[in-house]
Amino acid sequence: MAIETIDLTRGVPGTVAPLADAFARPITYVRISVTDRCNLRCVYCMPEAGLPWIAKAEILSFEEIGRIVEAAASAGVRSIRLTGGEPLVRRDLARLVRRLAAIDGIDDISLSTNGLLLAEQCEELVAAGLRRVNISLDTLRPDRFALIARRPGLDRVLAGIEAALAAGLGPVKLNCVVMRGQNDDELLDFAELTRDRPIFMRFIEMMPVVDNAELQRDAYLSAAEMLGRIREREELLPVPGPGGNGPARYFAFPGARGAVGVISPLSHDYCDTCNRVRLTADGRLRLCLFGDYEIDLRSPVRAGAGREELAALFHGGMLIKPERHHLKLGEAGSRMRAFSEIGG
Ligand code: SAM
Repeated sequence: MAIETIDLTRGVPGTVAPLADAFARPITYVRISVTDRCNLRCVYCMPEAGLPWIAKAEILSFEEIGRIVEAAASAGVRSIRLTGGEPLVRRDLARLVRRLAAIDGIDDISLSTNGLLLAEQCEELVAAGLRRVNISLDTLRPDRFALIARRPGLDRVLAGIEAALAAGLGPVKLNCVVMRGQNDDELLDFAELTRDRPIFMRFIEMMPVVDNAELQRDAYLSAAEMLGRIREREELLPVPGPGGNGPARYFAFPGARGAVGVISPLSHDYCDTCNRVRLTADGRLRLCLFGDYEIDLRSPVRAGAGREELAALFHGGMLIKPERHHLKLGEAGSRMRAFSEIGG
């Protein structure tokens, strides 16, 4: 496994000690959910009717997010990923990107999106300081897209991918949740996307949340099986990843410009190298995607807490960040109803 060198010495003037949890893992990465709302209803993620959305007044403003990120940066956080829900449905996201890009110490801003609104917002986001993008793509077939996402729109997602490549938002990573009987027959078609273009196609094991436990039990496919099924047909060699903060392991066809990645939270968990925490749309610092360990940051922010006080809350969070999650097939590890609640 590649060892990432993290320069924690480039502190911001007046910084507090760099964040590290009780297991000596440096925490340099915050994933921020900017909304719990989404313009798709993917079967593995959200009920068709949606969820009880968080009231607008409870959602952090861009200014509040900015103050939290300033505090996080003062404690050594370097990378931010904006996610959701669907982050591009939040109005004027580029304004937030610009605000975060101006914060001392933040040198990597990325986005996770379903791609539907990306083509129209890409240029503005790049101008604001966005550097990298992950786009969800669970099928290459329009009829299936409507079944899996419960909305049409594959053509717009594909246009979003093209726009990201054209804008140099590299590396472009595509995320596919592989489901038995729904899209697992497309594994090779997805992998083919990586031959001629710098695309990093990542296959994700479906994770259980409260509302999908049954589907997850029935449709779960392990990363080993995904790789095995591609390898039955084509040679795949282990390769280093394209960089970033993630837990994927990468493999490539000989001579390919991109690579196939697998993310295997269930079968091969990667908690040992966890470098991240999450901020929910309503301002809770979530210490682990699974397991309900969180701290309210919105109340102190709204009560006027300053940078040092907020940084101290990040440090406090390190004490309750668990060593690992305990995900099991068909069993949600937390009360979370969907990834959109936390920021997947
Ligand atoms: N809407 C954005 C998107 O589509 O990327 C960001 C939020 S979405 C919750 C982030 C990622 O989580 C997507 O790649 C999605 O496929 C993945 N995801 C959602 N529910 C999942 C589950 N139960 N298991 C594995 N991945 C899941």
